[in-house]
Amino acid sequence: MVFGGEPPYIPPNHPMLQENAGRVPLEEIQSDRIQEIIDDMLRLTVDERAQSKMVGLAAPQIGIPLQIICVDTHMTIERIDFSPPLDVFINPTIIWYSDEMESFREGCFSTGSLAGIVPRSTKIRATAYNREGEKLELEFEGYTARIFQHEVDHLNGLRFPDRITNFDHLHWVDLENLEEYRANFESWPHTCSKEEWKRFIGSSPIDA
Ligand SMILES: [Zn+2]
Repeated sequence: MVFGGEPPYIPPNHPMLQENAGRVPLEEIQSDRIQEIIDDMLRLTVDERAQSKMVGLAAPQIGIPLQIICVDTHMTIERIDFSPPLDVFINPTIIWYSDEMESFREGCFSTGSLAGIVPRSTKIRATAYNREGEKLELEFEGYTARIFQHEVDHLNGLRFPDRITNFDHLHWVDLENLEEYRANFESWPHTCSKEEWKRFIGSSPIDA
């Protein structure tokens, strides 16, 4: 059983999830093609959020190799209020990371039934463009900074297990056990080794 992975999501072993996404040319941000991609992404997030899921989405997760992400900038770690729409960021670039790091659990629609405890900077500064093509100077902290870093990683061919160095912190979690996991993630017994992760995404453990 997986958290996501059904179409329109591409499967966890799809090579696009390990590739760099292309920048959107600024003069194309307001084109019908890019605006339709954004609308499709937001529609998908609305459906998922109606089921209290999804705090972010990156275009490569649905097979579009472009630097477009949607991020919940209001969410707290209690994950209670899924009502605000996600913000859209185009060509996001993180320009500063705090030295201070924090570890917390993450899951992903592109890693099947894996979840894990991921170290992230607690604060970041970034630039991006909105869907009107205006340049944004951004500063995020806490859970929003975590979500933003997770989504930007997708644009660089990385997923949260790639950020884990202690593989006791990468966990198999069946969907029906998700609530139990949220309460007991720090001592979850079903671990996934680095070799298993590499096998799962379709690359040889020899190359790991
Ligand atoms: Zn993800």
